[in-house]
Amino acid sequence: MADLDIPTARQLVDGDWTPAADGGELPVLDPATREPIQSVARAREVDVDHAVAAARRAAPGWAATSPSERGAILSRWAALIGEHVEELAAYEARDVGKPRSGGRLNMYITQGIVDYFAGAADKLTGVTLPTRTPDYFGYTRPEPYGVCAVIIPWNVPAVLTAANVAPALAAGNTVVLKPSEVAPLSPFALAELGRRAGLPPGVLNVVTGLGPEAGVALTGHADIDHISFVGSTVTGRSVMRAAAQHLVPVKLELGGKSPNVVFADADLDAAIPAIIASITENAGQNCYAGSRLLVEESIRAEVVERVAAGMAAVRTGPWDQDLDMGPLVSQAQYERVRGFLAEAPAAGARLVVGGEPATAAFDDGWYVAPTVFDQVDSDMRLVREEIFGPVLAVQGFRGVDEAVAMMNDTDFGLLACIWTTDVSRALRVAGLVRAGQVAVNQFHDAGVIGFPFNMQKESGFSRGGGYAALREYTQEKAVAVRLLDRPSA
Ligand code: NAD
Repeated sequence: MADLDIPTARQLVDGDWTPAADGGELPVLDPATREPIQSVARAREVDVDHAVAAARRAAPGWAATSPSERGAILSRWAALIGEHVEELAAYEARDVGKPRSGGRLNMYITQGIVDYFAGAADKLTGVTLPTRTPDYFGYTRPEPYGVCAVIIPWNVPAVLTAANVAPALAAGNTVVLKPSEVAPLSPFALAELGRRAGLPPGVLNVVTGLGPEAGVALTGHADIDHISFVGSTVTGRSVMRAAAQHLVPVKLELGGKSPNVVFADADLDAAIPAIIASITENAGQNCYAGSRLLVEESIRAEVVERVAAGMAAVRTGPWDQDLDMGPLVSQAQYERVRGFLAEAPAAGARLVVGGEPATAAFDDGWYVAPTVFDQVDSDMRLVREEIFGPVLAVQGFRGVDEAVAMMNDTDFGLLACIWTTDVSRALRVAGLVRAGQVAVNQFHDAGVIGFPFNMQKESGFSRGGGYAALREYTQEKAVAVRLLDRPSA
């Protein structure tokens, strides 16, 4: 392929673009028009078998490659991603419905992640262990698992491909990746670039199919050695049950219901735009979306007014108009979010702004207007469940103790954002909140390289992101040696 076209109704197995064994295909829709963009193969059990077999055949050779050589191939992959940012961004933006610039930003992040693990590949070491006497020697060596199954959702497919596939490959594993059937195009395009960068056949295989077909076949497969799953908490439970069949280690990165907590001394000029971005970026379809806003009562009215004004000003449109926000990804997602919007006022929440399809001008797509509900109770579904849309639930608090109690009053534990200019309070709250990641005076991890993508509670458990991800994709072997006395000849 001269350019980055993805062949119709194909999947990438053993280095070749092949159709599904039964010729089945799945349409990929443009969320802005609800029209098909193209089709991909509909992988079933037999196709997953072929992909796992290819990854198994490739595993010994790839594990035997020197870490520097693996790093060099990943480095070439990162460079190719950099050269194809615009095409990759267009695939992902159109597929998911995000603005083109959002797709572009995702590709820079994707390139950075692959580059990071390219550099990390030859930095993975074991340790020497202390011994009781000089007659012994002990050490550990990190070893690849073998064949890793990686299953990802549709919201940030390129970043999640990089975040899971790059460390797995850097550590010497081969991979079978199953992107979401809803948005598989950027993972396919990335895999094609990986092939051009020199990944040998079978080292990275990509099958696209439905969760109950390809997903179940992959997680229940007897010949995989590790499962990495990113998706909803509900599906995560099924994946963990599947992993139990063959006692395969599993890494789970699941849903979130992350709070922005705003204390009265916060810098509101910094906080307000970040709060709006945290729930409208990718139309609120991010695991770390700031879907709960907890505000100290003394500034609540001002904050709600400013956030509502900002939400009302968010410009919505199709990916190629490159405005602030696009449509939701699918009919199912649209109906789910509309269900929350319909139910909340009846449950007693006050609608401040939004609550409707975005604009009549774009009624071909699955658009929902940025929405704010105030006077929300902790027991409402609006607060308890992940909505995955541009819908913000506001609650007031008095003092640090109540703020921390409300932050922790959730089944999820992904990200918490703290807004205060009192550094002691920020650090105290960061220590008390039950979340895998904490951001202070910003939304998420800007400015920090290799930020671990940690989860607590029902958001899952993982050592994703940064150097720890290399460890996630290795098993440690411990070796104890007795030094025999050998008189010199
Ligand atoms: P989902 O759980 O429906 O699907 C995720 C993936 O799993 C898809 O590829 C799907 O085909 C597959 N799948 C579905 N059922 C399966 C099964 N029984 N066995 C194996 N695989 C199966 O999630 P989604 O709707 O695609 O994505 C949204 C969810 O992803 C949200 O909950 C979001 O918070 C979460 N997410 C989490 C993170 C994180 O890092 N924590 C990042 C992004 C998205």
